[in-house]
Amino acid sequence: ARSPFLGRCLIAGNWKMHGTSRDLGTIGRIMTLADTAGDDVGVALAVPHTLIFPAAQMADDSRLSVGGEDCHSAEKGAHTGCVSAPMLVDAGATFTLVGHSERRTDQGETDAEVRGKAEAARAAGLSVIICVGETEAERDGGEAEAVVRRQLEGSLPQGDSAGLAVAYEPVWAIGTGRTPTTADIAAMHDSIRSALTERFGAAGESILILYGGSVKPENAAELLSASNVGGALVGGASLDADSFGAIVRAA
Ligand code: 13P
Repeated sequence: ARSPFLGRCLIAGNWKMHGTSRDLGTIGRIMTLADTAGDDVGVALAVPHTLIFPAAQMADDSRLSVGGEDCHSAEKGAHTGCVSAPMLVDAGATFTLVGHSERRTDQGETDAEVRGKAEAARAAGLSVIICVGETEAERDGGEAEAVVRRQLEGSLPQGDSAGLAVAYEPVWAIGTGRTPTTADIAAMHDSIRSALTERFGAAGESILILYGGSVKPENAAELLSASNVGGALVGGASLDADSFGAIVRAA
């Protein structure tokens, strides 16, 4: 199947630290919904490491791409509890998230570490969704675009733009039910687009820029209509197949 990173739009779920083998039925339903998505809409689901293998086995031959939520920057080594990009590939992942704000906060990940992870993921053949986004204080201070620019500069991998997507997730919109206005999203996504074309030239035009933060069936169509929004990264609403399916249909 064609990479979901190459279409017009990518709807990606992020299950975070949710899900056990009991929830594979939900992934099966998401897989069925993915197969009915428009040809130019890709559907992807990042799941906990423990679910990658069974989910990827189930989704084999479907249009659902299964991925990881993080990887280590090294191929292997003395890093107890960590999982490398080649291990994600071995389990059946085709992509991974890196630099999610929860990891930047909980694990103290820096831009340089995120970039190392992105480079390791691509070296292993994974597509990568690089997550960026400002805090509420940074937005209130008028620094949102500068913060995101700095995160991109530090986190984007060396090399070309193949297999890359960016997710803009304002920290204050994650899990809160609050979202930026479509005008604010458009301004930020336009700014990210400029950063990507400065970095990658014309190839930067086709990198998908996803919006994430309280995306729900009710607001998906509006959020997805904003300038330079090429998809959504969906947390809570991706845990329910019907809600996630409704967001895929809005794309
Ligand atoms: P919510 O959709 O639950 O706000 O989470 C967004 C997110 O962090 C996806 O990575």
